[in-house]
Amino acid sequence: MQKKKNIAILGSTGSIGRQALDVIKANPDRFEVRALTANNSLELLIKQACEFQPDMVAIANEKHYSRLKTALADQPIKVFAGDEAIAQIAELNSIDIVLTAMVGYAGLKPTIHAVKAGKIIALANKETLVVAGEIIKELAQKHNSAILPVDSEHSAIFQCLTGEGDNPINKIILTASGGPFRNKTMDKLKHVTSKQALIHPNWNMGAKITIDSATMMNKGFEVIEAKWLFGLKSEQIEVLVHPQSIIHSMVEFADGSIKAQLGMPDMRLPIQYAFTYPDRLKTDFPKVDFLKYPELTFEKPDTTRFRNLALAYQAMKIGGNMPCILNAANEVVVSAFLKNKIGFLRMSDVIEKTMQKVGFIKKPAYEDYVATDAEARKITIESL
Ligand code: MN
Repeated sequence: MQKKKNIAILGSTGSIGRQALDVIKANPDRFEVRALTANNSLELLIKQACEFQPDMVAIANEKHYSRLKTALADQPIKVFAGDEAIAQIAELNSIDIVLTAMVGYAGLKPTIHAVKAGKIIALANKETLVVAGEIIKELAQKHNSAILPVDSEHSAIFQCLTGEGDNPINKIILTASGGPFRNKTMDKLKHVTSKQALIHPNWNMGAKITIDSATMMNKGFEVIEAKWLFGLKSEQIEVLVHPQSIIHSMVEFADGSIKAQLGMPDMRLPIQYAFTYPDRLKTDFPKVDFLKYPELTFEKPDTTRFRNLALAYQAMKIGGNMPCILNAANEVVVSAFLKNKIGFLRMSDVIEKTMQKVGFIKKPAYEDYVATDAEARKITIESL
């Protein structure tokens, strides 16, 4: 009998957090929920706490503290609120694995705490690596913290690399569904609404990442994420549109051989793999039936219509705090787009403008990222 893995889920009420709890629920002999945190979704957090009985819960929005405390008053669960509490939960002794499933820049601080505490990080918050990949990587080495990808593409690459040791690779091929607007002309893209953008053809995800998928910023972020996770050069990372989302990504090795990981688009699989690595557990998830997918097709990504992908490559090549600027600007424009305050195509224009305006720092420290994030948000809001 294996020792149960003790898990903290940061962002348990979001799409990844909820699916992680499904995985845990299906394997009660393997996993134990020790801590749950949420940003704002009070009612769902209460419900999850009652069901999974963690040692503690925390809510980022301190306004909800007293209601959370009252709701869990007769449970043996400690209750906290605020960003600082969430950062501290990430370093608790009782926890083996921290799943970072919160949205956006907010993931950076708690992830740094978890890495410094030497935890296994099941990384779902890609913005952490986009913003501060260099710092996270250095800290992870120093504190012996393993960072296991939850993002489906990176999980695919990770699975392809398992067992390959130091075998040199030529490149990785990140697949992209192309999102809901893959076939829309420039003219049509000008008028698409957030409602249309929120309908993803293959993946069931939260609002922010679904918009990022529609603009292909998500793929741009994943390129940067891959650079840090796998120690690659920019020119070793290729993006290939694959509308069926059956091949989750591929690795081409030095001898020209290509390995791919395939499966139905279901986030529970990469979540579970990060929890059980290097083991695999039986699941009842839907399986691929190739006769239902007689055609797996591929296209070159179009960076004229989806400029965010080009902007992300540019930010990665420039390095320093540029990806942090890219991310901050993107968070602001996506939130404006969700409120119908900015058009689809204008999002890239505003991001590009912010990238030109914010002060560049070649070798940023943590405090520089915090300052850059704040400055970039301010400048982006001004150019909306
Ligand atoms: Mn992904």
